[in-house]
Amino acid sequence: MRLITSYSQLLLRRFSGSLEGDALRCVDCIEQGARRMQQLLTDLLTYAQISADDGADHDCVDLNLVFQKALQNCKSAIEDTKAHVTSEELPTVYGRETHFVELFQNLIGNAVKYSGKEYAPRVHVSAASTDGVWRIAVADNGIGIAPEHHRKIFGAFKRLHGKEIAGTGMGLAICQRVIERYGGQIWVESQVNQGATFYCTLPLTKSVTPLSAAPLPAAETISIGLGL
Ligand code: ADP
Repeated sequence: MRLITSYSQLLLRRFSGSLEGDALRCVDCIEQGARRMQQLLTDLLTYAQISADDGADHDCVDLNLVFQKALQNCKSAIEDTKAHVTSEELPTVYGRETHFVELFQNLIGNAVKYSGKEYAPRVHVSAASTDGVWRIAVADNGIGIAPEHHRKIFGAFKRLHGKEIAGTGMGLAICQRVIERYGGQIWVESQVNQGATFYCTLPLTKSVTPLSAAPLPAAETISIGLGL
C-alpha cells in the first residue's frame, strides 16, 4: 500500500502536466484509495496488537503524560480547527502506555473531527474515582450521536458518515478493545447537536483481564467510508 501511495503521488507530482482529465482523476482515485487502505491496515494492526498483548512489562502509566502525547498526535487536526482541548489532573493507571495513548488520541481526535462547523471544538478530559474504579470522561461540544447509535458505533467498521468525513470505523473499536483489556467499560452519553461525552472505566489497582481472540466481521461486511 505504501508503494502504491508513493508511486501514485509521484505520478501526480511529476506528470500532472502531461496527464489530463480522466487520467488525472484515475491516478487521484488510486492515491486516495491506497491511502485509506493503508490507514485501515494500520488500525487493524493496532487492534490485533492490543488483542495479542500478553501483559508482560506493563507498568504504571501517568495519564497526564498520555494526554500530552495524544495532543501531539492530534496536533494538526487541533490546529486546523482551532480546537480548545483541556484536561483536569488525571490519575496513574497500570498497563501499557501505547494502549492509553491510542484510547485518548482516538477519543480526542473524534471529538475534534465530529465537531460540526458552527463552533470551534471544545474538548475536556476529566477523571473521577467512583465505585472502586477510575472513570475517565472525554466531553465535546460537537454534532452528537442519536441514542439508537450509542452501542453500535463501538463495533469494528461501524460508521455514521460517508467519505465526506475520513475514517476507517476502527477508532472506537480500538478504544473498546483497550478498555476491555483492563477489565473496564466504555460507553457514550449524547444527543444529536448536543455534544457527546465518552466515558470509560479503569481499575484503581493492578488487574489485567486476558482477552480471548476478538472476532472481526466477515470480510464481505467491511465497508470503508459507508454508513452503518
Ligand atoms: P471513524 O471516526 O473512523 O468513522 P470511529 O470508530 O472512531 O470511526 O467512530 C465511529 C462513528 O462514531 C463515527 O463514524 C462517528 O459517526 C461516531 N462518532 C465517534 N465519535 C464521535 C463524537 N465525538 N461525536 C459525534 N460522533 C462521533
